[in-house]
Amino acid sequence: MTIGLCEALCAVWEKPVMRINILALGPEEQPVPFAGTVDLSYVVRWGEVPFPEPVSVSGTACSKHGQTLVELEAQYTLHTTCARCLQPMVRRETARFDYVVVEQLEQDSPQDWVEAPGGMLDITALVGEDLLLALDAANLCREDCKGLCPVCGADRNHIDCDCSAQKKNDPRFAALSKLLDDKKDTQ
Ligand SMILES: [Zn+2]
Ligand SMILES: [Zn+2]
Repeated sequence: MTIGLCEALCAVWEKPVMRINILALGPEEQPVPFAGTVDLSYVVRWGEVPFPEPVSVSGTACSKHGQTLVELEAQYTLHTTCARCLQPMVRRETARFDYVVVEQLEQDSPQDWVEAPGGMLDITALVGEDLLLALDAANLCREDCKGLCPVCGADRNHIDCDCSAQKKNDPRFAALSKLLDDKKDTQ
């Protein structure tokens, strides 16, 4: 069943693409499972490759009243940089998405519906787009990451640089922080 539906690894450009044929689902309201891996290693965001490893995708497709409901789960390893300490971080993630798919969108179709021209739904493109959208803009290596010291740039998770202690005692920093406080007041 899975193999008939999932036209996996059909070469488009030079990348293998995972597609399912929504016109081959059989009886209405019977979810048909599909599974495979998609290659999103071509995705680049802010100079990083967030998904260098294959993404496992599994889900079901179910036709109902001329539409197809697709639910899927993507399991992937996110490679990015901590927003506070700027260290590379790697994390296993799971994301779930569902879609209403039609062979052809009409003018009054809801905006979030997905078109599958000729019945072929491009799972790779869908998952790639949605994983990018789901990427948290501020990923942290851990919830309580202390980040970098704004004065000396030390990673405060590893180094206790003492800058905040010095700041209190140094008249130059006192003048600077007064300036910053004044600026805050005028904003
Ligand atoms: Zn961090
Ligand atoms: Zn410091």
